[in-house]
Amino acid sequence: MAKLLLVEDNEANRKMLIRRLVRAGHDVPFAANGSEGVSMARSERPNLILMDLTLPVMDGLEATRLLKADEATRKIPVIALTALAMVGDREKAFEAGCDDYDTKPIDLTRLLEKIEYWLTHEPSTVHE
Ligand code: MN
Repeated sequence: MAKLLLVEDNEANRKMLIRRLVRAGHDVPFAANGSEGVSMARSERPNLILMDLTLPVMDGLEATRLLKADEATRKIPVIALTALAMVGDREKAFEAGCDDYDTKPIDLTRLLEKIEYWLTHEPSTVHE
């Protein structure tokens, strides 16, 4: 079991993903915007963060930049989640420091494989 922080503003998506990740055995605290996500990453110290990119208050790219600029949170793997149609998001996500990327609608098997990978591999995209 791992603690996965889900940062997602869409309540329906959030509830569905939490239910499925909890069923897969994980503890899943959540935040509904990027600013709250950064605060919760600092307080909850999750093993991994699932970061929607389109968020109110602070988007997922900016939240990831802040997390990767902070010694206390930079080693937490961040998997960006975005809609398949958002061309260019993948590059923007990696530029912001995200360690991996997946598209919605979520393929749970594929996402769990990425989660398992990042729970056992140290992020290498730590920008100095
Ligand atoms: Mn969103």
